[in-house]
Amino acid sequence: MKPFEYTRLSTDDLSSDTALYDTTFLAGGTNLVDLMKYGVEKPDAIADIGQLPYDQIEEFADGLRLGALATNADTAYHPAVKNKYPVLNKAILSAASSQLRNRATNGGNLLQRTRCYYFYDTAMPCNKREPGSGCAAIKGFNRIHAILGTSASCIATHPSDMCVALAALEAKVHILRKGATLVMPFDQIHRLPGEHPEKDHNLEPGDLITHIELPNEGFSQNFEYLKIRDRESYAFALVSVAACLKVSAGKIEDVRVALGGVAHKPWKLKEVEHEFIGKEASTENFKSLAEKLIKGAQGFGTNNFKIPLVKRAIVRALNNALNPS
Ligand SMILES: Cc1cc2nc3c(=O)[nH]c(=O)nc-3n(C[C@H](O)[C@H](O)[C@H](O)COP(=O)(O)OP(=O)(O)OC[C@H]3O[C@@H](n4cnc5c(N)ncnc54)[C@H](O)[C@@H]3O)c2cc1C
Ligand code: SF4
Repeated sequence: MKPFEYTRLSTDDLSSDTALYDTTFLAGGTNLVDLMKYGVEKPDAIADIGQLPYDQIEEFADGLRLGALATNADTAYHPAVKNKYPVLNKAILSAASSQLRNRATNGGNLLQRTRCYYFYDTAMPCNKREPGSGCAAIKGFNRIHAILGTSASCIATHPSDMCVALAALEAKVHILRKGATLVMPFDQIHRLPGEHPEKDHNLEPGDLITHIELPNEGFSQNFEYLKIRDRESYAFALVSVAACLKVSAGKIEDVRVALGGVAHKPWKLKEVEHEFIGKEASTENFKSLAEKLIKGAQGFGTNNFKIPLVKRAIVRALNNALNPS
């Protein structure tokens, strides 16, 4: 591992933001430290943010605020998350292991990097790790790779489960930028790879995530987080679906569907969801929604199976949400 400078940030450091530009933040370290050990990330300076006062989960009249430094475990088991946002509870608990969830933070979960094997293997070309070097996955072994929103430069997926639920819930992210707070809708946090796969997200250097805001509507009656993976635990999603419904007299009043494991960001299309409001909550309509949501999906060989799989997963997740067990 390359030597680096280590500092521990206090709240006083946050007022002089210029000092943060060239710094990589360390939260739980469960992703960053692995990447440093593999030589994928080589920061000169690390700022440990673990002491900052952003580890609270607070209820407000208009929703819930999850501190960026609250652990994934504390978040999943918080009574308000369990009762009001069960899709988030289920998504977080489907991830990693209990040891990791006790250490991993919410901010770190949002900004964790892809699990593309070639990204981790410094002997292989990878435009995300080394811009301009090529993409070994496009013609390589791409079983875990994206089928939507890909580019000729990168077909990586975003690996988070939590983010898929946060996308469905239409969370907002509070960011400290140059001493001021900026609030970004969740769907603007992550980006598609385009010609710049080295950029995972739309944050700027020095931006610090402080909170995640959940709106009041938590879809606690009709929800599902369906994660399909090679092993029942301790495995990333091949495909996942966060499905939330509001139904009245058999008709869809609101529907949210976000997909994981299929794109460089959680995949959700508001315009497709809108089309189904007022329609009957039926398997036929769920199939139609699935077709529209993944329109244009493209496989790259070993990941072709994801196209029929994700269609079936969407329909199953919506039916499970409609008829919770
Ligand atoms: C074996 C293994 C299995 C896993 N399985 C799953 C799984 O099934 N599903 C899943 O979703 N995840 C899984 N994970 C990933 C895990 O959830 C993430 O590693 C974890 O959430 C990252 O959080 P952290 O606090 O450790 O982040 P760190 O590793 O400390 O940081 C990650 C990145 O976020 C940045 N960062 C952290 N906090 C902030 C902040 N507040 N503001 C700005 N930048 C910040 C850091 O600079 C770094 O770039 C797995 C991880 C491992 C090691
Ligand atoms: S898919 Fe993206 S992360 Fe993976 S090798 Fe290609 S450029 Fe790198």
